[in-house]
Amino acid sequence: MYAEILLPVKIGHNKGLTYKVPQNLNIEIGSAVRIPLRNQIKTGIVRELHQKEISFNTKDIISTKEGGQILAPWQIELAEWVADYYFAPLYKVLKTMLPKKIWTSTSKIPYETIYLRTDKEAPSSLGSKQKEIIELFSTKKIYTRQELKAYPLATIKSLIKKGLLTESTGDIKGLQHESLHQSSPKTLAPEQQIIFDGILSTKKPISLLHGITGSGKTEIYLQLAQKMVAQGKQVILMAPEISLTPQLIDYFADYFQGQLAVLHSKLSLGEREREWWRIEQGQAKIIIGSRSAIFAPAKNVGLIIMDEEHEWSYKQDQTPYYHTRDVAFKISELTGAKIILGSATPDIQTRYLAETGKINLFTLKNRILPGSSLPQVQLIDMRAELHKGNLSIFSDQLANSLAQTFQNKEQAILFLNRRGHSSSMLCRDCGHTLQCNQCDVSLTCHRSRAGNEWLTCHHCGGHKNIPEKCPECQGAAIKSIGIGTQRVEEELQKLFPTMRIARADKDTTTQKDSFQKLYKALKNHEIDVLVGTQMIGKGLDLPNVTLVGVVLADIGLHIPDFRASERNFQLMMQVAGRAGRAEKPGQVIIQTYNPEHPSLESTKEHHYLPFYETELSTRKTLNYPPFTRTIKLTFKSFDQKNCSQAALELTNLFKKEIPNHIIDCAPALIYKKHNKYRYHVYLQGPNPHQALKSFLQKHPLKEGWVIDVDPVVMN
Ligand code: ADP
Ligand code: ZN
Repeated sequence: MYAEILLPVKIGHNKGLTYKVPQNLNIEIGSAVRIPLRNQIKTGIVRELHQKEISFNTKDIISTKEGGQILAPWQIELAEWVADYYFAPLYKVLKTMLPKKIWTSTSKIPYETIYLRTDKEAPSSLGSKQKEIIELFSTKKIYTRQELKAYPLATIKSLIKKGLLTESTGDIKGLQHESLHQSSPKTLAPEQQIIFDGILSTKKPISLLHGITGSGKTEIYLQLAQKMVAQGKQVILMAPEISLTPQLIDYFADYFQGQLAVLHSKLSLGEREREWWRIEQGQAKIIIGSRSAIFAPAKNVGLIIMDEEHEWSYKQDQTPYYHTRDVAFKISELTGAKIILGSATPDIQTRYLAETGKINLFTLKNRILPGSSLPQVQLIDMRAELHKGNLSIFSDQLANSLAQTFQNKEQAILFLNRRGHSSSMLCRDCGHTLQCNQCDVSLTCHRSRAGNEWLTCHHCGGHKNIPEKCPECQGAAIKSIGIGTQRVEEELQKLFPTMRIARADKDTTTQKDSFQKLYKALKNHEIDVLVGTQMIGKGLDLPNVTLVGVVLADIGLHIPDFRASERNFQLMMQVAGRAGRAEKPGQVIIQTYNPEHPSLESTKEHHYLPFYETELSTRKTLNYPPFTRTIKLTFKSFDQKNCSQAALELTNLFKKEIPNHIIDCAPALIYKKHNKYRYHVYLQGPNPHQALKSFLQKHPLKEGWVIDVDPVVMN
């Protein structure tokens, strides 16, 4: 028998290399095996087993690795689908799916070492440390190495030698989750119960749960997860950025102690590996994670939940450029797993799937807790404030409401989607703005608590000192303009010197648990006002927050992307949803220079459907998704001319070879980034995937091209 083996490196094509299976070796599709390759021994995954005639010499598989079948056959099929649909090499998909250590020679399942007491009576000659250890076993039968870490390994070993203890392997140690809230089991409200039953009984596997913020979606997820786990199934629950949603883990940790695994980008390699194996071994029944959790080795998955399904972070931003939602759909097709897409502001495409009957639609229209309702939203025209002579970054209305909230001992959230102190540095004499040397963007000014200032590029991360003179005209009139979260924090403190203010943005949350700490401090009311970027929009459920202020809603409104309006609407609705989640009524104040913008007007009324209808008809007119599909191909080069030329050549070739498609090209919005120029070519039509696949068979792309299927960002 022969096996096709997949390796984590670029070798040959996507089918793998052929090896002979020795008689005595017990392997299955999905097993990890050791194989000779050139002069080395490598780890590979069995993709296929067959008895075909082979006309070339093959080597034998050397051995199987611990863990046996580490990928179920459907997971291999999934990997192949991802590789094919997203035009990615299969080995890169495998690397995305499996932990790094799998490929090394020494990898083992990271079981914990445990010690057990034998029946043998302890002699009186034991040393004092040895006696202490034996004493411990009189109250508990099993101790892990971790629990005995106060004792030297040598002491434990000597007890084993004496026959008083034995060593064995236990479970894999998972992450510890401290539960902040003591929750009691809840009875679903009638409208929740209808959805719960509906999702369990429906024939269509995929459901959209369209429910406003605070309508009780999470409780439905929880109870469905319990049901699935009771049936022996595994559940994957995804949130856009898991480190920003500590309360979600909190909510589930209470019920699934020891059965919960968490996967996200801020875990260490070791932590990630242990969580991975706990899932693979079936020790973890419920997996909470960000987008990569979709590839968790939950062979027995029965339910996949995507919370805040409209979030863009569900799209991977490097090869393979998969969209978690589409991968979930594929898993459902392969395994029959149920999918729930939850959101207060579903992606236009998802809502369209529901409207056209392709997936189920369940709706929750009201907030669940008695007395809580959607907050009042006010739009403040900042042009009028200027006219009044108010030059502050806070309108009178927002300043008054902040004062009132503070006085009432309630809490507030101030949102601004830009970190740093100011947005750029401008010369008042010649109009020059300070630019990054490596990117086509202006530099942002940052300020330390001690008052030191410097410039940062938010695209390449480069730093610069603030020049004394304008590099263009040598004048001294350089000033910072625009506002960032640091400046908001500073101005707020000036206005309310005794207010306890915290800031949540990329600069303040570099540690793994920084957000968790902030959340805790908010919950305990050690913070009066939280100032932050979009990371604070993600699911903070704080009953004492009664005021949400959007300092400037205009950032991101004018990005040349057909999804800009949708994105802004979703962001505003989400941020607004942080206010008034319990009995105390909430208030939202949105400051803007564009109060008539449809995305803001819809937020004011909390109206999703009218916004959806308008947006959908625009897209229909312009032939945008969901009425077509798009593939974006990007060429990157240090050479500007080389870059635009490559794009023009491909565009022309597409126009010649691919009929019935819309073909277009444009430089990236930020043309130069990190010294590399970027040019996009767009292929748009009912099935551009098939068209591109046939095209590539005839004309392989040259080095430097990146393919993004169904991109969420066009520019
Ligand atoms: P969403 O996920 O839609 O934002 P949640 O599920 O977090 O809403 O519900 C909002 C609040 O209501 C939470 O504090 C939650 O514990 C509570 N809640 C949800 N369902 C019930 C229920 N059936 N009975 C009592 N409280 C509930
Ligand atoms: Zn830069």
